Amino acid sequence: MLSSKQITPVASGSGCDTYAWLCQRAWVEIDLAALSHNVRQLVSLLSSQTQLMAVVKADAYGHGAVSVAKTALESGASWLGVATVPEGIQLREAGIKAPILILGAIQTPEQIQAIAQWKLQPTLCSPKQALVFSNTLEAIQHSSPLPVHIKLDTGMSRLGTNWQQTGEFVRLVKSLPHLSIASVYSHLATADDPDTTVMKEQHRRFEEAIAQIKAMGIEPPCLHLANSAATLADSSLHYNIVRVGLAVYGLYPSEHLQNTINLQPVLQVKARVTQVKTISAGTGISYGHQFIAPHELRIAVVGIGYADGVPRHLSNNMQVLIRGQRIPQIGTITMDQLMVDVSTIPDIQEGEVVTLLGQQGKEKISANDWAKKLDTISWEILCGFKHRLPRVSMT
Ligand SMILES: *Cc1c(COP(=O)(O)O)cnc(C)c1O
Repeated sequence: MLSSKQITPVASGSGCDTYAWLCQRAWVEIDLAALSHNVRQLVSLLSSQTQLMAVVKADAYGHGAVSVAKTALESGASWLGVATVPEGIQLREAGIKAPILILGAIQTPEQIQAIAQWKLQPTLCSPKQALVFSNTLEAIQHSSPLPVHIKLDTGMSRLGTNWQQTGEFVRLVKSLPHLSIASVYSHLATADDPDTTVMKEQHRRFEEAIAQIKAMGIEPPCLHLANSAATLADSSLHYNIVRVGLAVYGLYPSEHLQNTINLQPVLQVKARVTQVKTISAGTGISYGHQFIAPHELRIAVVGIGYADGVPRHLSNNMQVLIRGQRIPQIGTITMDQLMVDVSTIPDIQEGEVVTLLGQQGKEKISANDWAKKLDTISWEILCGFKHRLPRVSMT
C-alpha cells in the first residue's frame, strides 16, 4: 500500500518501526540499491592503494547506520567512521566486523575500556589523551596493543594536535606501551570551495607533518585527509583512505563537483494526505494566519511537520510533489502537519502519497533545494530525519 514497490522496516529508533504498519501518515524511504551504486562509483575513483571509509555517524546521516554500514561494506567500502563510542558499539552489536574509526574525541576511562572491549579504533587528539589511554589500558591490563589514529590540526581548528608538533606527538605515542599507531590523519575545512587556496595550504602542512615523521626514521603509517568533497575534487588528496559521508548518500558536496561521478540520492521523505477541504477567499490558514486565501482554495492537510524533520522555516516557501506535480505549501508548518494548495488537483483523495524529498515522474526535490532556501547545507537537512519517522527500505 505504501508504494508500488514492496516496503519493509530496516531500522529502529523511533519506536515507530515496530509498529510501522500503524505509522502510515509519513515515512522515510531508503534506497539501498542507490547506496550500493554510490559506493561503487566512489570506489571506481580510487587507486588500488586507497580504501573507502563510509562515514556512518549520526545514524548514517539519518539513513539508518546498521543497514547503511552493511550495504556499504558489501559494495566495496572497507572501513566505517562514526562520531561516538555508542555509535561504534551499535555496529558491533549488529555483527559488523570491519574496522571502525571513532572520529570524535575520547576522554574517560569508561570510554577507553568500551573501545578496547568492542574492538573500536579511537582518534588521539593530544599528548595528554595519549597518556590517559596508555594509563587506562595499563590499569585494565589490556594485552594486545590498541590501534590508535593520530589526529593533526592542519587548519580546521577543531580536533587534533598542531601539525608543527607532529614529530613529538608521534614519538610520544610510539614510546607508550599498549598503543600502536594505525594511521595519521587530518581534516579539511574548505574542500567544497571552488577556491582551493586554503585546501592546498592544508595539504602542504599535512605533507610537512609526514616529512617530520620520516625525518625521525619512522615509516609513515596509513595516512588520510579527504572527505567527500576532497575525494571528488583531487586524487592527490586520497592517500590510503578516503573518509566519505555525504557522497555515499548520493548528494554532491558542491555544485562545481557534479560532473565527477554519478550519484543517486538514497533518501526520500513521503507522507499522506489526511484531509481535503475547500476554504473561501479571505480565510486564514494555520498558526498565526501567515497565509490568507486570496480566493477560494482546495487545500490538503499532510501528516508531516517540523517534529519529523521538515524545517519550520520552509513555511510558505516550499513545494511538495503530488501526482507528479509541484504543489505549493501554504501557512505555517506545524509540529505534525502542514497544508498544501491542491487547487490544481480538485479530485485529490485522502490517503494519497505526497513526496516532500524525492522524485515523482520528471519532478525532483532534493535536500540541496531545501538547504539553499534555508541558507544551510544538505548535511543538516538529512540529519533532521533521524528521529521520528519510520524508515522503510525499497526492495
Ligand atoms: C563527518 C566527517 C567526514 C565525512 O564528511 P563528508 O563531507 O560528509 O564526506 C570525514 N572526516 C571527518 C573527520 C568527519 O568528521
